[in-house]
Amino acid sequence: MNNEQEKVSVSRQTLTVVADEVAGRINHLFRGSCPDELDLQARDKGCLVCRALIELEGELNSSVS
Ligand SMILES: [Zn+2]
Repeated sequence: MNNEQEKVSVSRQTLTVVADEVAGRINHLFRGSCPDELDLQARDKGCLVCRALIELEGELNSSVS
C-alpha cells in the first residue's frame, strides 16, 4: 500500500459536508439508516452527511487498484 499521496476527485460540496460533520458543525439526520455505534456501515440516502460519505467512500474504493 503506497497510495497515500494518490489524488481522488470528489465535489467541493461533499468535502464541505464531511468537514462540517467532523468539526461538529452539522450532524447526521438520525431519522433513517444513519450509522450508529451498532452499525457503522449503515447509510441513509435522505441524509446529507450519509450522501457525502457514500460519494467519498465510493471514490476511495474505486481509486484502489
Ligand atoms: Zn446520516
